Amino acid sequence: MIIKKYTESQQLKAMKLLLNRLPMKHPLYSKIGMEIQTTMAGDYGEEMVYRELERMHLPYNYYLFHKIMIRTEKLFEIDYILLTPFGAIVLEVKNIIGELEFQVNPSQLVQTKDNGEIKKYPCPVNQLNEYIYLLSNFFSLHNLSIPVFGAIVFASKNSYVKTTTNETTILYKNDIYSFLRKLQNKPSTLTNSKLSQIKNLILKYNSSYDFFPLTKHYYIEPSDLILGVACEKCGQVGMNKVKNFWYCAGCQYVDKYALQKSLQQYFLLYDDFITNKTCREFLQLRTRYEANRLLRKANLIKIGNNKSTKYKWKT
Ligand SMILES: [Zn+2]
Repeated sequence: MIIKKYTESQQLKAMKLLLNRLPMKHPLYSKIGMEIQTTMAGDYGEEMVYRELERMHLPYNYYLFHKIMIRTEKLFEIDYILLTPFGAIVLEVKNIIGELEFQVNPSQLVQTKDNGEIKKYPCPVNQLNEYIYLLSNFFSLHNLSIPVFGAIVFASKNSYVKTTTNETTILYKNDIYSFLRKLQNKPSTLTNSKLSQIKNLILKYNSSYDFFPLTKHYYIEPSDLILGVACEKCGQVGMNKVKNFWYCAGCQYVDKYALQKSLQQYFLLYDDFITNKTCREFLQLRTRYEANRLLRKANLIKIGNNKSTKYKWKT
């Protein structure tokens, strides 16, 4: 049973919004642009693996979760967790194409692309082992003794693993089903009611991505951002109000709710709290009245009164 479906990461959505508000000459512009490319490739790989997982009919009861983030001794995020009667399975998805070599001492993954370009990545084996350790630790903290296994999954048809280590299961996307089916050869340790209890525990402790506002995460001065109302269609910032609508000069898009949508960007990018003054700054509104009306109507948590009123995003 699928408990937490694949969804595009909110982090990626926010990074794209941030890039639209960064001047191209900003020192972090190209770094964030590259991070977006990497995150998009990662998300795409996870989606491809999800298409495989969602059509599985395994011969046992299971629960599937996409992107679980748990804090124990440190915060960690797992691409996929499968809870089965035989234990918990961690799937670490990689969308890296070309010829791949797992090297040890020092551990790294070396990619050779078709054009001969060579790139090195941190070793996914170490990453997977760390997640297995952290998830086992999470279960121990809750007095649960559950075997935890894992596998690295290469999502693309264009990945070719040339050399590997024998200590870790490495799968191509099409091998996932047979890998999971073979788990039946292991002893079954968890009853259905125990599985259900662990499922609820994971959901209870799953935390959301908490690196917002992104300007703090990247140490960007909020005043470096391009301010104004953003067009959701082309991303350009600086929509103009025409009667009751917002108009984008870049792509001629007309949006009645552009102001409300940009208010959400404030919390993703600019600051944790909003006041009438910072709202006017971020959205480049002319009057206190306009900001006041927007803030009062939005679904925010109000803190304080009169001049010291500020609002927080309701998560
Ligand atoms: Zn536009």
